[in-house]
Amino acid sequence: MPLRGNLHAHSLFSDGVRSAEQVIAAYEALGYDFLAITDHDDRVPPHYWRALAALRPRLLLFRGIELDYRPLSQHVGRVYGDREVLHVLNHPARYNLSLDETTRRVAVIRGDGLAIDAVEVTDTGHYRPQYDTDAIRLPKIATDDSHREPHVGRAWIEVEAPRDRDAIIRAIKAGDFRLGFASGEGDPPG
Ligand SMILES: [Zn+2]
Repeated sequence: MPLRGNLHAHSLFSDGVRSAEQVIAAYEALGYDFLAITDHDDRVPPHYWRALAALRPRLLLFRGIELDYRPLSQHVGRVYGDREVLHVLNHPARYNLSLDETTRRVAVIRGDGLAIDAVEVTDTGHYRPQYDTDAIRLPKIATDDSHREPHVGRAWIEVEAPRDRDAIIRAIKAGDFRLGFASGEGDPPG
C-alpha cells in the first residue's frame, strides 16, 4: 500500500487559521499517512521547532518550513526527515512563471546553495498541469498548501515507501510516487 500524504500545510504558527494539532487531526480524519507542517519562516515564533517536536500525532509528521527566497520572492518548501532534507520549489503557478523561468529559478536557487529536489504542480491544491512536464527535469509533487479547512485534502502524493521519514523523502527524490487529487481538482497525469 502506498502512503498518502501532504508536504505543505500551514497552522497558527504563521498564517493558517487552525492550531497544528487541529491541522493534524483534519488530515488524520482523511486517513493520511504523513503530513508536513511548513509555516512561513518570517512569521514563526521562536518556539516553533520545539512545539512541532512536542506533538504526538498518529500520522507520521515531518517538521518543515516555507522559506521566502528573497532575491526572487520565491517560496521554497523545506521538509526535514531524520537525516534527509527535501527542498521544493513551491507553486510556480502563483507567480505565473513560464517553464523557462521555472527552470531558471531552480538553477539560480541551486547556485545559491539551496538544492531544489522537486517542484509543485499545484497552487493551493489546484492542479496546474502546465508545470507537470518533462521540460522541468525534477520530480513534480502535488500539495494542498492548506491554510483553512476547505483547502485540506485537495491534492496529495502517494509514495511507495516504508513508513519512515527518510525513506519517504528518498522515494520522492527518486520519483517513486503518484499524484492524487480530490474530484474536480484535476486528473492525475496518465
Ligand atoms: Zn505555503
